[in-house]
Amino acid sequence: MKMYFYYGVMGSSKTACALIKEFSFKEHGKKVLLLKPSLDTRDGKALIRSRIGLSKEAVVLKPENSIKSGVPHVKNYDVIIVDEAQFLTFLQVNELREIADFSAMVMCYGLKTDYMGQLFEGSKRLIELADCIREIPSPCLCGKKAIMNAKYVGNKVVYSGGQIELGGNERYIGMCHKCWKKGVICVDQKEKLVI
Ligand SMILES: [Zn+2]
Repeated sequence: MKMYFYYGVMGSSKTACALIKEFSFKEHGKKVLLLKPSLDTRDGKALIRSRIGLSKEAVVLKPENSIKSGVPHVKNYDVIIVDEAQFLTFLQVNELREIADFSAMVMCYGLKTDYMGQLFEGSKRLIELADCIREIPSPCLCGKKAIMNAKYVGNKVVYSGGQIELGGNERYIGMCHKCWKKGVICVDQKEKLVI
């Protein structure tokens, strides 16, 4: 089986794509496992929610969790779909690679890079190990292709802080490199494009 990495910037409808794939595989009688890596420490299941309104329950994967020993009946699935795959650890991607070699198709959806344009750990390992790497393209507010995941507060792009911040008032938006460097987000345009 193959391992796929579909990457795109914030707002490129990765989650919607993942949920549509899940629906379609299930309709064809496949057993599908939805996984969501999370830095949240709560146990159990979480909703994968797309901005267009689709949502589905997923098994939460914490950084210390092993997929092979921590997810029940993982060998019984035909397809494993991972949302927010950038938050997978190096070891979890290795495990998914092995699962793809022996039992299931693995489809990972996530960001490629952080707000400073550097690879996330999970995305780096996926680029190294995936059979197929595909981009889900999305435009910047200016119309050019977005490649950066700009972090912003108000209408200003922020260039400092941790790679992952929980509970802050920062938000993220896909931008082209030129607009990201310029550092200002036009609020009128933003309201039209960002939900
Ligand atoms: Zn732009």
